[in-house]
Amino acid sequence: MAHGLRLVAACLVGFVAPAAGPLPLLDPPPGKTFLAVLPHHDDHTHEYGFGGLIARLIDEGYRGYYVRVTNDEKDGSAGWGENDLVNERETQEAVRALGIEEVISLNWRNDHMDSIPHHDLRAQLILLLRRYRPDVVLSYDPWGHYDRNPDHRKVSRALADALALSGFANVHPEHLAAGWKLHRVPFVFYAQRFDYGKGHEPNVAVALTEKQVARKARAYWLHRNVRVHPESARALRAALDARGLRVPELEGLSDEEATIRIQEWRMYWISARHGRENGVPFAEVFYFVGEWDHLPGLKDYLRENVRPK
Ligand SMILES: [Zn+2]
Repeated sequence: MAHGLRLVAACLVGFVAPAAGPLPLLDPPPGKTFLAVLPHHDDHTHEYGFGGLIARLIDEGYRGYYVRVTNDEKDGSAGWGENDLVNERETQEAVRALGIEEVISLNWRNDHMDSIPHHDLRAQLILLLRRYRPDVVLSYDPWGHYDRNPDHRKVSRALADALALSGFANVHPEHLAAGWKLHRVPFVFYAQRFDYGKGHEPNVAVALTEKQVARKARAYWLHRNVRVHPESARALRAALDARGLRVPELEGLSDEEATIRIQEWRMYWISARHGRENGVPFAEVFYFVGEWDHLPGLKDYLRENVRPK
């Protein structure tokens, strides 16, 4: 298949992670209270999780609370104030369908959370953990680096810190003075939007001809000021000499020429390695953002189903 076609085909069919073995099935841990701490009114609804687990926890006898951290003012077309009211009302209806009776709206401004000191949000969440004393907490994965939503990142990081600190007496002792008790949450379920993609892991390879690799290698060492230091070849030769070794290809070359040759090898080596891994002689690999990437929930469907008119 032509290289260009190969890339186009790869973009259209999507990228499937290497098959892993089945995961161990986990029954809900013992307990009676859970908190779903999520930035937005609808974060329990997506295909990647929470709604089903919430339903199951309720079925297993848990009492649940939905902590809606933002005011969702940007989500909807009714205007900021009205969006807040409508979304809060709909959260209450939706989570009631799952079996949660109470929504705790913290009402931080949606898509404006970087202006909130991390400590303030963390303190509020620590207080909630001490107040509700959950056995289970559900939230976004604070180490799921590829979540594009700034509220998701902000809330999950503050929550992870709150979970780490809520059991320590020296952390916000004013809570204890006010009558709350220390609480460490034993069980946490994290999820993230895997449909945002694999983040910084390459998801495409672009095939190169040998001539293209040669130009890439030359362009690399033409930055002589930073890349062509004859002393590096001198040091390598000395190290080889000390071990009774030699590289025949470097013999007869000046230190500068040897340095350039070594740099070219680096470019050929990495291009050939990426090529070998992807079934072509030479390649570069990228994390490619495709035309449907701004629709993460739909992109795989679109890649598989769109056709020219
Ligand atoms: Zn969200």
